[in-house]
Amino acid sequence: MTSSKLNGFLNENLEELRGLGLYNDIDPVQGANGPIITINDKKLINLSSNNYLGLATDDRLKEVAIDAVQSHGVGAGAVRTINGTLDLHLQLEDKIAKFKGTEAAISYQSGFNCNMAAISAVMDKNDAILSDELNHASIIDGCRLSRAKIIRFNHSDMEDLRAKAKEAVESGQYNKVMVITDGVFSMDGDVARLPEIVKIAEEFDLITYVDDAHGSGVLGKGAGTVKHFGLQDKVDMQMGTLSKAIGVIGGYVAGKQNLIDWLKVRSRPFLFSTAVSPADAAASAKAIDILTESTDLQNRMWENSDYLKQGLKSLGYDIGKSETPITPCIIGDEKLTQQFSKRLYEEGVYAKSIVFPTVPKGTGRVRNMPTAAHTKEMLDDAIKIYEKVGKELGLI
Ligand SMILES: *Cc1c(COP(=O)(O)O)cnc(C)c1O
Repeated sequence: MTSSKLNGFLNENLEELRGLGLYNDIDPVQGANGPIITINDKKLINLSSNNYLGLATDDRLKEVAIDAVQSHGVGAGAVRTINGTLDLHLQLEDKIAKFKGTEAAISYQSGFNCNMAAISAVMDKNDAILSDELNHASIIDGCRLSRAKIIRFNHSDMEDLRAKAKEAVESGQYNKVMVITDGVFSMDGDVARLPEIVKIAEEFDLITYVDDAHGSGVLGKGAGTVKHFGLQDKVDMQMGTLSKAIGVIGGYVAGKQNLIDWLKVRSRPFLFSTAVSPADAAASAKAIDILTESTDLQNRMWENSDYLKQGLKSLGYDIGKSETPITPCIIGDEKLTQQFSKRLYEEGVYAKSIVFPTVPKGTGRVRNMPTAAHTKEMLDDAIKIYEKVGKELGLI
């Protein structure tokens, strides 16, 4: 017999979510996640991926992935510390460190895992972490796992950060104090005020940690937000993902050699979970080669994102204050936002609605992610559909 307590818990909560229309039914994509996708046999212009540079379906990455399967097989075989560290993993880490401009780097199975791994390896219950209120869920969970005192500061509010840093340090209650922030905030596309954060960190001797999942491959000629501001020597821990602009799977932390040495002996997802497969490591390394050699893909991504932004703005949409390709169309009302996204889908645009609790109440939006892989024709078609649906719903 299975647990009646569990069944009761699951059924009650699922019913409640479904009743409120908040249960998220996931759309299966038939085939590759490119600029045009197929869902329920329907072809759609895809403005919902994080595949900024189109690398998820790039032939050069596919080729090295296939070669790696032939030479190294499909799995790493063991956790890294036992005998699962392959030459391909070391090669990847070497390339990441060079690309980021740091002494060393360590790779993990995902960006989410990086935050689980790295925060709790350096912070403990005698420490405090100053965390931007809009930080990603994986940062929040990583901070909780460390058992450090979590002190939230208002989003990108440098006065609030400085006041809370001062209070935390001067209280003498904590051994170490860290400030942690997204490099690029994923719902609005705004960039963290890193030069000011670093200044505050220097004033109060804070550890600096930047989660650059949406900045890597996008800003700083691809090397990320820290490089964009020229702060490679001033940020202690740079975390990034290999699953967004890089197009594959995995994550990494880049920093000084002593930090990486420590993470290799103390971060639990490194010690107790097998690394990414040979094909993943080889494809990620190839992506970094491509980004190092040329900015063609980035240029195309920025051109496309400027084009889409201009198109939506001139239709009269509120596209917020994004400084990156992330392009929200802010609608406000949650139900209307969902209806808008549904109509876009029916007309041929895949752009998901994002509502409370992912964003604050009353700021429901449809988020668009233009990529290097979109053509002008696709974007023109999308803008036409935005015009039709917006007028129909009285939004523009
Ligand atoms: C997507 C994301 C992650 C998680 O990265 P994965 O590699 O997909 O696990 C972590 N932090 C931020 C800010 C993200 O946007």
